[in-house]
Amino acid sequence: MNKITPQPGIMDIALYQGGQSHVAGVEHVIKLSSNENPFGPSPKAIEAVRDSAAALHRYPSTDHASLRAAIGERHWLDSARLICGVGSDEVLQFIAQAYAGPGDEVIYTEHGFSMYPIIARMAGATPVMAAERNRQVDVNNILAAVNDQTRIVFVTNPGNPTSTMIPEAELLRLAKALPKTCLMVIDGAYAEFVDGFDGGASLVDRFDNVIMTRTFSKVYGLGGMRVGWGYAAQSIIDVLNRVRQPFNLSLTALAAAEAAVNDIEFLSFCQAENARLRVWLSDELAKIGVPSDASCTNFILTRFADRTEAEACDDYLKTQGLIVRRVAGYNLPNALRITVGDEEACRRVVAAITVFKGGVA
Ligand SMILES: *Cc1c(COP(=O)(O)O)cnc(C)c1O
Repeated sequence: MNKITPQPGIMDIALYQGGQSHVAGVEHVIKLSSNENPFGPSPKAIEAVRDSAAALHRYPSTDHASLRAAIGERHWLDSARLICGVGSDEVLQFIAQAYAGPGDEVIYTEHGFSMYPIIARMAGATPVMAAERNRQVDVNNILAAVNDQTRIVFVTNPGNPTSTMIPEAELLRLAKALPKTCLMVIDGAYAEFVDGFDGGASLVDRFDNVIMTRTFSKVYGLGGMRVGWGYAAQSIIDVLNRVRQPFNLSLTALAAAEAAVNDIEFLSFCQAENARLRVWLSDELAKIGVPSDASCTNFILTRFADRTEAEACDDYLKTQGLIVRRVAGYNLPNALRITVGDEEACRRVVAAITVFKGGVA
């Protein structure tokens, strides 16, 4: 037996299950399993990546000043209170590492992102689940789970894989009711898909214990580049920077993200196409007996009669070269999460599910 043993809790961490991207024997698959942008990255980001190649012998910026300034300008935020990470996953990890440890509790919600319990355990803390209600975050259930050990509450708004969101008044109620010793993290990975929503930035400005996280992986189409950011009180950002490696973001990643955040035209195009197609997809599927909640994101959560039907539909879609996401691991066994693709992808999904349901496409 190996005498080298990991820290307590490490072996309780379940490995993250990513979206599938291949089907054996099927060519030309359309991947709708990871909420990626069907239009790819901004052409300007691609150009910035190319341009960065000649400088790869140089270490990148350690303070990300240029990217933070660009984000601050586009989102009307104080760039001094921003921190950038290798995906928002890394920012979430900084938060858990800096503010939770053995004996502490970290609250996440029933259908919440699977990274929250993972990073809580990485920090040695205990993840605690608060039930949702009708696939929506329930502030009362979160508050009922809070105790003296609670250090962090993670809320995704809009939610993944639910696609629903709670009103800003509910976020405000939560922020007001939480003890000042407990951090509230608003994960805004999908905030750009909600017209007029600031992702929780105004709550960060009002409360010292509220943090907002955002990502370049979704609407900006840079999942492969791994860039995310957080916005919080200066005192919190100063703490998080102490657990951040000085060169966490590559030169290439910084260049791509800065070009992407400045390409407002491409952003608007992606937002408009998504808003149009998510409604079309959801309406067409509802007509054939596959309902979903009104989506505030770039995916829909389709519901089936039971787990057997959901899995049978997933199997059938795979034979048609369409990869969607099973979400039984998120306590949603009857459902499939389908990323809103481009128009052709959406049409193919509707046609395939129509056939699956016994209709004629
Ligand atoms: C996709 C996603 C993220 C983004 O993760 P990155 O590390 O930035 O790629 C964060 N939170 C939720 C809920 C997500 O769905």
